[in-house]
Amino acid sequence: MQGIFQGESKMAEIIRGKGVISGIAMGKIMLAGQNLDGYLVNYEPEDKETEKKKAQDALTAVAEILRESIEKLKSKDMKEQAAIMEAHRMMVQDPMMADNIMAKIEELGNAPKAVLKAAEEQAVMFEQMEDEYFAARAVDLRDVGKRVAKYILGVKEPEIGDEKVILCGREIEPSVIAGMETEKIAGVLLGSGSTTAHAVIIAKARAIPTIVGLNKEDRIDRIADGDHVIMDGERGEIVVNPAPEDIASYDEKIKKQKELAAHYAALKDLPAVTTDGVKVDLMANIGTHMDVDNALNYGAEGVGLFRSEFVFMGRQDIPTEEDQFKAYKEAIEKCKGKLCVIRTMDIGGDKPLPYLNIPEEENPFLGYRAVRISLQRRDLFLPQLKAILRAGVYGKAAIMIPMIINVAEFKKVKEFIEEAKLELAHEGKAYSDDVQVGIMVETPAAAIMTPVLAKYVDFFSIGTNDLVQYTLAVDRGNANISYLYNHFNPAVLRLVQRTISSARENGIWAGMCGEMASDPNAAVLLMAMGISELSMSAPSIPRVKEKIRSISSVKAKEILADVMAMEDGDDIRNYLQKILG
Ligand code: PEP
Ligand code: MG
Repeated sequence: MQGIFQGESKMAEIIRGKGVISGIAMGKIMLAGQNLDGYLVNYEPEDKETEKKKAQDALTAVAEILRESIEKLKSKDMKEQAAIMEAHRMMVQDPMMADNIMAKIEELGNAPKAVLKAAEEQAVMFEQMEDEYFAARAVDLRDVGKRVAKYILGVKEPEIGDEKVILCGREIEPSVIAGMETEKIAGVLLGSGSTTAHAVIIAKARAIPTIVGLNKEDRIDRIADGDHVIMDGERGEIVVNPAPEDIASYDEKIKKQKELAAHYAALKDLPAVTTDGVKVDLMANIGTHMDVDNALNYGAEGVGLFRSEFVFMGRQDIPTEEDQFKAYKEAIEKCKGKLCVIRTMDIGGDKPLPYLNIPEEENPFLGYRAVRISLQRRDLFLPQLKAILRAGVYGKAAIMIPMIINVAEFKKVKEFIEEAKLELAHEGKAYSDDVQVGIMVETPAAAIMTPVLAKYVDFFSIGTNDLVQYTLAVDRGNANISYLYNHFNPAVLRLVQRTISSARENGIWAGMCGEMASDPNAAVLLMAMGISELSMSAPSIPRVKEKIRSISSVKAKEILADVMAMEDGDDIRNYLQKILG
């Protein structure tokens, strides 16, 4: 083990953040992330001639990087992505692009800013051409501009090499992690973010040790590209350029980690059933079809939430019905007859989609997002519904609608589904008529109205990540108020209980796919409330299963009664901690 960091001469340094996904990881830092603001602020330009040379060198280097990626993509038969990269390479090599950049350097004296500005101006010109083809190229131009600027700033693209890396960035877009193979990422270090940031959620589905909150006091700037690092995702500790004795001290922890993994692996095929026979289905949340195998390895009994927006992200244009069909079919097939709940795209909030050109909003989490977009954009919604219905032929699928606030929205969704079926029948394409249609209960309005909504839907899945933020008016990603973000807040517990009771009274099932489901003590309460299914990041399944198998439903109901009589969320958390561990 000590061999991996041999030859280090830099001084070791310890940096602390907030550990959100446990596990020890060792590897080389690769700077990643799409938001360049932080890097631009810290960039110190030199004289104009040097800046011009930097820009020219960056253009040449990026063209070469792209050429190598194209070769790799072609060898893996990924023709579509290779074609996109080819278009990007041509833009980088376009003499007009270089001329514009040089002119901007004259004006601004700053190479990365000049590159971004030149690309932006050219992109706007394309957009004004009122031609769909050129409008789409505007997105590519911005992407290319960012790539070149990143090169100058030293922010590397997470290129897929042979060595495992620890991704590190002030902000890392979810698509960056989703687009990389799990085996290539040893860990994630994030400047901003919280446990419910989407980059973190994807990392969690893949059990990648993660530490967040490193923007605090600019700690992240003390970690450089290529640094060797040991990170402890539980304690939030990062040892940069560790000495041999630091590495040795982590050997013991790694040994314990392996023992725990073996203990959990033994639970894989056992059901999550209480000592007196009450069973809860434990399912997995996934971001791409590539996550299913990993989920089943942790003992998932199906997929309770496929965040389909990730099929839309990390690309330049809207995925076609056919693209989506392939992705959903693969996930459903991999589930081998177990339920696969596909949530229709939840774009908006902290998951923007540049090519949809949604105007900037003051309150994105309260804005044009999820089903609100779907209902206004039949060009997006119909192909997605058709793709899911077609994929449903290959197993057991369900459609889940995010961000519902009233019955009218759900009725419109049902009309779209009927229309999708009619079109498919007309086109002679096979589809499943047996796909359940349910909703996320993630707004207080939906939770309050569950006695009515239950008459229309096939199931509820409670999305506590949003339900907590909307009920308590606490932004789910704001570290300054994270102490208020508590799923044990009595207001949240009452909405959750109401939802589960409404489902039971109306003969439908209720599950949960928000992060609360992965908290073992919360799982005990939810089981006592009568929940049928809990869906979570796969690595959390064994811990929740162990807890449910250790208690009787009678005891859990006693605990629930105590909890529902309490007045304060922190008291509830502490009480559960005391009696359940
Ligand atoms: C939720 O809000 O709880 C949820 C599962 O959806 P997302 O985290 O994708 O918003
Ligand atoms: Mg949500």
